[in-house]
Amino acid sequence: MRLLVIEDDRSIAEPLRTGLTREGFEVHLVGTGEEALAAPPADLVLLDLGLPDLDGRVVCRELRARSQVPIIVVTARGEEIDRVTLLELGADDYVVKPFGFRELVARIRAVLRRSAQEQTAATSTAGSGPVTVGGLTVDRRTRKVTLAGEPVTLTPKEFDLLAYLAADPGTVHTRDQIISDVWDENWWGPTKTLDVHIASLRKKIGAATIETVRGVGFTVPDQPPEQ
Ligand code: CA
Repeated sequence: MRLLVIEDDRSIAEPLRTGLTREGFEVHLVGTGEEALAAPPADLVLLDLGLPDLDGRVVCRELRARSQVPIIVVTARGEEIDRVTLLELGADDYVVKPFGFRELVARIRAVLRRSAQEQTAATSTAGSGPVTVGGLTVDRRTRKVTLAGEPVTLTPKEFDLLAYLAADPGTVHTRDQIISDVWDENWWGPTKTLDVHIASLRKKIGAATIETVRGVGFTVPDQPPEQ
């Protein structure tokens, strides 16, 4: 597993490289945003947001625009960004300095595991073709969504959530199920995060496409009403 570690503080970067190498990772260490964007592809990115040249948030967005590589963002205490913003940046998880090395390794492994599961799920559905519900088409193979033939742009998590719900129209998924299948069981702030994603999906694909089942969870109804 190759890790791209973007950290300008050498007193953190060097021990991190030593420790992560000892854990069996291949570590590519860079100290600036420019170097990060020029680095070869990795299996996971650990990105310090406080970089000397570029805004770490810009680097994060840029990396996400290029690939689905899992990204863990590192923020300094006091510059904590809210979680919704992190999700919008396309980050998969975050840690706040000072963090424990054990905790970091656990986060890295959890994010890698989740990403491997997503890839397996994508592969296993590769031959099953796109799902169509009403005017909405969700293609897991290409990760593309269209509404009445028009492409819809979703964030990676919005896509995962919609693909999950639309895979089985009419079935009601509980909030807990959704959180553990689409995010993971250790996800922080699950209630807010799920609601934020549902709200944003409804804005993009129509409010009626995802129904709230009060006190239970959500469903994509078999035949959504005409928009
Ligand atoms: Ca820094």
